[in-house]
Amino acid sequence: MTMKAACLYGKEDIRIIEVPVPEIGDNEVLLQVKSALVCGTDIRMYKNGYPGVSEASPLIPGHEMSGIVEKAGKEVRGYTEGMVVAVAPNMGCGSCNSCVGGNTQLCKVDFRAFGININGAFAEYVRIPGDAVRQGNMVELNTLSFGEAALAEPLSCVFNAFQRYDVQPGDIVLIIGAGPIGLMHGKLAAMAGASKVIVNDISRERLDLVKGVEPGFLTSEGDAIRSLVEELTGGEGVQVTVTACPSPEAQVLAMELAAMNGRVSFFGGLPRDRAKVPIDTNLIHYKQITVTGTTMQNLEQYRRCIRLMERGVIDVKPLITDTYSIEKVTDAYSKIIQGKGMKHSISW
Ligand SMILES: [Zn+2]
Ligand SMILES: [Zn+2]
Repeated sequence: MTMKAACLYGKEDIRIIEVPVPEIGDNEVLLQVKSALVCGTDIRMYKNGYPGVSEASPLIPGHEMSGIVEKAGKEVRGYTEGMVVAVAPNMGCGSCNSCVGGNTQLCKVDFRAFGININGAFAEYVRIPGDAVRQGNMVELNTLSFGEAALAEPLSCVFNAFQRYDVQPGDIVLIIGAGPIGLMHGKLAAMAGASKVIVNDISRERLDLVKGVEPGFLTSEGDAIRSLVEELTGGEGVQVTVTACPSPEAQVLAMELAAMNGRVSFFGGLPRDRAKVPIDTNLIHYKQITVTGTTMQNLEQYRRCIRLMERGVIDVKPLITDTYSIEKVTDAYSKIIQGKGMKHSISW
């Protein structure tokens, strides 16, 4: 049996091909994908190429997914044919200190992630390796749509950062970067009782999109953020700033706009050649700023985000603005590159 898949062969080379449906072992599951969202990571891998991905060893991208269990190997416990699930992308060896501590996503011994170094969800079917099945990457769904369930991945990355920057009721929270990630930070901050959520971006068009999805957020374009923060806080600065963009300047700005005892989250990574940033560390010292960084999510955070959505604590449905068939993956990519829409779903 064959299936359609989008396959990355290298820099700016993604092709829709017909490949065999993956075979599964006794410990493995075959997932029929129903929604796979396109992420900034997919776009970076496409624009820059990715280590290990070549004409000789292509990769099916896609790490934000949900679907239906098509087949479960005979040793698999807890998952049966027809079960509706979301699947977290990262798995580890299961026995190193990170894995034993519940952080399989930080494993250095045998880290695998769908769509990053093993085949992912831009295909009709995905093989779920035994480690992912055993470690609990698959979460049964009750009420969520497939698209929402796939959002559990980016949402839980954001949740990981959110737990560290610790929004308190009444805080003013500034998000630099008006993408879907920035919006999710804003939504969690609002949920935690932030008195104001401000979204800053260099693009008016992006800010208008934010306004459309979340009219309660304040928006501010480019450098105007300085006077807005000055005005809103009487010069005190903001309690929490999140940089949800790959910009060194945003990191510097975050330090400058932080209030006393402020928290700053460097959420977006920087391009490798721009990652050395001159920051006045006296700002950290004299303002007692807590600077945090996070990457990915552990499975507890992933599951919690599914619960937050299922119980209606947070509604991220409006973030999915565009839906495509697998044949149209490149359309999704080019829309994202042009800065159009929020989250783009490949759906079946
Ligand atoms: Zn992602
Ligand atoms: Zn490990």
